[in-house]
Amino acid sequence: MAATPEKPAPATPRRKAGRHRGEGQWAAGHFTPLNGNEQFKKDDDGLNVRTRIETIYSKRGFDSIDPNDLRGRMRWWGLYTQRKPGIDGGKTAILEPEELDDEYFMLRVRIDGGRLTTEQLRVIGEISVEFARGTADITDRQNVQYHWIRIEDVPEIWRRLEAVGLSTTEACGDTPRTILGSPVAGVAEDEIIDGTTAIDEIHRRFIGNPDYSNLPRKFKTAISGSPQLDVAHEINDIAFVGVNHPEHGPGFDLWVGGGLSTNPKLGQRLGAWVPLDEVPDVYGGVIGIFRDYGYRRLRTRARLKFLLADWGTEKFRQILEDEYLERKLVDGPAPEQPAGTWRDHLGVHRQKDGRFYVGFAPRVGRVDGPQLVKIAEVAAAHGSDRLRTTTEQKMIVLDVEESQVPSLIAGLEALDLKVNASPFRRGTMACTGIEFCKLAIVETKARGASLIDELERRIPDFDEPITININGCPNACARIQVADIGLKGQLMLDKDGNQVEGFQVHLGGALGLEAGFGRKVRGLKVTSDDLPDYVERVLGRFQKEREDGER
Ligand code: SF4
Repeated sequence: MAATPEKPAPATPRRKAGRHRGEGQWAAGHFTPLNGNEQFKKDDDGLNVRTRIETIYSKRGFDSIDPNDLRGRMRWWGLYTQRKPGIDGGKTAILEPEELDDEYFMLRVRIDGGRLTTEQLRVIGEISVEFARGTADITDRQNVQYHWIRIEDVPEIWRRLEAVGLSTTEACGDTPRTILGSPVAGVAEDEIIDGTTAIDEIHRRFIGNPDYSNLPRKFKTAISGSPQLDVAHEINDIAFVGVNHPEHGPGFDLWVGGGLSTNPKLGQRLGAWVPLDEVPDVYGGVIGIFRDYGYRRLRTRARLKFLLADWGTEKFRQILEDEYLERKLVDGPAPEQPAGTWRDHLGVHRQKDGRFYVGFAPRVGRVDGPQLVKIAEVAAAHGSDRLRTTTEQKMIVLDVEESQVPSLIAGLEALDLKVNASPFRRGTMACTGIEFCKLAIVETKARGASLIDELERRIPDFDEPITININGCPNACARIQVADIGLKGQLMLDKDGNQVEGFQVHLGGALGLEAGFGRKVRGLKVTSDDLPDYVERVLGRFQKEREDGER
């Protein structure tokens, strides 16, 4: 494979990196790759793999794929090999990657801002039926994920997605990932500011742009002007959160350096207020800092949060202003505590134009192709052309006339998509888990769905907002650290000494202005089979012993 030229140094001279010269920072002149990932990114831009997929791999089949493309660059187009069926979680850490690789792929469709038309949703559903054995999951980053994708079908899938304005570009990889946006942007009555134009401009300037396609690691973005703080902004590398400035009016409060997984950190405010039309420039500055100064030696220290931890917010803001924006940012206020307790927009809500939006819940984000096609049909039959996905693995139909609402609800609930959902269906999320994920140790999606059903049966009167997030391994795809009850998959011994699937329990995490990580109680583990009993006990005790206003 042809090697690309050495990545040029940034046009503007950057300051020397001081004590972190050994971290592989480009700004300090360190362009020699210090690990295998940096090497394959230097050898060839991940974006270039598309041509090979179209001209070689899709024609010659799975075995023709270069290993560095298979386990590296294909992510730049949203493709990961999925786990070979039948390999138990005990083998995850033991087997070589090629032993875990199936010849089928997970394919992620990026849906920036969670915005879909009914036509786009119909096409997503049809692709699922035709090429993905009916699979489709709504993720907690507003994307859709397929499974069982054959490399032979990928060019045709791209053709169909792109024909309706969707793509898989940089849906994975060390890239600017899908831009989260308020699912009710532009329609919510209580909206402070609509960030949609900024999302579109960031997409236009930065996504699929080779200047930003080799970042130290993934770069996650969230933009919301909703007072509900509805995009989990605290755990993104960069976030713009709607605020009213006392002098300048509506704009965004700038956050940087959030991220879960290894060494979880909540994002920090830089104390800067950014008007809507300057959001893309500020985004460009922060992603530029990450590209140039981000650590590239250890993958476990490569996210922006590690640079921020070393620099602090003051230095970060100063470098952003002096070296990237070449002007000062305006100081600004912090967002206020959200008015509501749920951020998922479920149920029926009046829009600012007098029509209504209707949020509904599948179980743990799991839908399927035929269901997606039907959702598109039901929405269209009730006069809507627009839907949104949420960061809670839920969906919303927009622009419904009041007279159509009851019939729309009936249509959705006939598909087992609850508008009036129990707290358990609203609040439970699960990652992909052992069914398809090569890093997984335990099953998650089916476990989460059955937990919801079981809790609805056992404690039907429970009426508190609750979040129960289930991960299949120590990673954080389902945000376990910021859930009321976070469940981290692991193997454990049951009372008879047999090795079984189970979870390490984290309790008391939250997002919002009281954001914090749940506490991992030493020895607090529960087997998968005992999970409903355990959660029922915790919630029963909470109901009995809570004080006024206690979460
Ligand atoms: Fe896979 Fe682990 Fe992420 Fe779940 S949390 S999807 S098991 S990597």
